[in-house]
Amino acid sequence: MKLTRKARWFWLMLLPAAAMMKILGVILPAVMVLWSSIGIAEEARTVRVLVWDEQQPEQAEAYPTFLGNAIADYLNSCQNIRAISVHLDMPGQGLDPATLDATDVIVWWSHRRHGDVKEDRVDDVVQRVLDGRLGLIALHSSHFAQPFMRLMHERAKADARNQVPEAERAEAVFDFSMPLKRAKVKRDAKLTPALENAGAVWKLTPPACVFPAWRADGEPSHVRTLLSEHPIAKGLPAQWDIPKTEMYDEPFHVPAPDAVVFEERWDKGERFRSGCTWNVGKGRVFYFRPGHETYPVYRQPENLTVIENAARWAAPRP
Ligand SMILES: [Zn+2]
Repeated sequence: MKLTRKARWFWLMLLPAAAMMKILGVILPAVMVLWSSIGIAEEARTVRVLVWDEQQPEQAEAYPTFLGNAIADYLNSCQNIRAISVHLDMPGQGLDPATLDATDVIVWWSHRRHGDVKEDRVDDVVQRVLDGRLGLIALHSSHFAQPFMRLMHERAKADARNQVPEAERAEAVFDFSMPLKRAKVKRDAKLTPALENAGAVWKLTPPACVFPAWRADGEPSHVRTLLSEHPIAKGLPAQWDIPKTEMYDEPFHVPAPDAVVFEERWDKGERFRSGCTWNVGKGRVFYFRPGHETYPVYRQPENLTVIENAARWAAPRP
């Protein structure tokens, strides 16, 4: 068939158009499937936070409807975070298995009633963190919270194995039986956790999870971001002041953190590692020091951003 010049042009234009339509017919649905699966993944990445609050009456000075509710309200204003606030006197102490099943990260506040949390609830929280099903953020006085102390102990046990000289490791026998206790430490106390070779056995003194000095006088502190590239430092300035806070002074008796993201200093010369991370088992733990229930520390944007970032960081990985 002999085509006229005009018809040749027509076919030359049409063929690529047809090919293009065919390619688009394959590509477009694929792009749409990919797009929707990204959407599903985005949805799945919503971090479910449980703010656990002892709810001391003293909180009313700075938080009319309790500190935990103030933190949950802020987190609910953040994209892809859904927070609920629970407290110690709820059924199941706010930590029943169904609630924990629907939780990625717990933000924990306790101060006076650490010992009132039932052992089986503590066991459940600790096991879920070890299994990588839950992250824990401990705030301020929660250095004495049972889940935090237990997880620091677990980390100290894991570290102990690495502290034994390599040649002895295979045969090493450990004694991890020394119990955890909430007790003060003196400034010159032996740093804990501590591992000692007692005869044929390596004996672990658990982390005391405390520090020798504190002062709840409402003086300002100066926070410095030490690791600006860390996800928990995202969007935060190199330094900021907290106008009214309590002072804690080093040494903090905890296993060496994987990262010290923030440090805090006071005008009288004290210093603290105020934002520390640990991997424990398959889970993640973050400790954030600023606080005290009678000062509005968790109303300050920088401190709330730290909690928000930490919640995203501590959430279990898919
Ligand atoms: Zn305090």
